[in-house]
Amino acid sequence: MGIVEEVGSELANVKPGQFVVGSFATSDNTCVNCRNGWQSSCLHREFTSTCQADYVRIPNAHGTLVATDEHPDAEFVPSLLAVFDVLGTGWYAALAAEVKPGPMAVVVGDGAVGLCGVIAATELGAERIIAMSRHESRQRLALEFGATDIVSERGDEGIARVKDLCPT
Ligand SMILES: [Zn+2]
Repeated sequence: MGIVEEVGSELANVKPGQFVVGSFATSDNTCVNCRNGWQSSCLHREFTSTCQADYVRIPNAHGTLVATDEHPDAEFVPSLLAVFDVLGTGWYAALAAEVKPGPMAVVVGDGAVGLCGVIAATELGAERIIAMSRHESRQRLALEFGATDIVSERGDEGIARVKDLCPT
């Protein structure tokens, strides 16, 4: 996310001065993969690896950047960064796993992306959400975000615990 400083001559959807968000995996939003909703697999995708710099050039800016209606208050910018970054990844993971209203979803990992995966699974209607987590503070967050069960075991033991929780 950032403020547009300058645009190329063919870019019409964003203007200098606008606050924009976009993925580090750029997309043209016109190819067949983009039109089917898989912008992260854009046929013309380029990765931007310098997005933490003060200035960055965004390839495919026309399909990648989305301008917000107004600039957010500065106090919210750190929180928005987390939303634009990790929530998008957790949400994408839930969509890729085809989480939908129904019996269950399992989220492996309790980092920021995993916890956002719990939020996504909750929003997408999973009824039982198992968070695989070994950190007490993150377990509390997972439960707050909609997880119904915590599995702290890993490997074969973790798989067995998840299977025990699956509907028969
Ligand atoms: Zn594309």
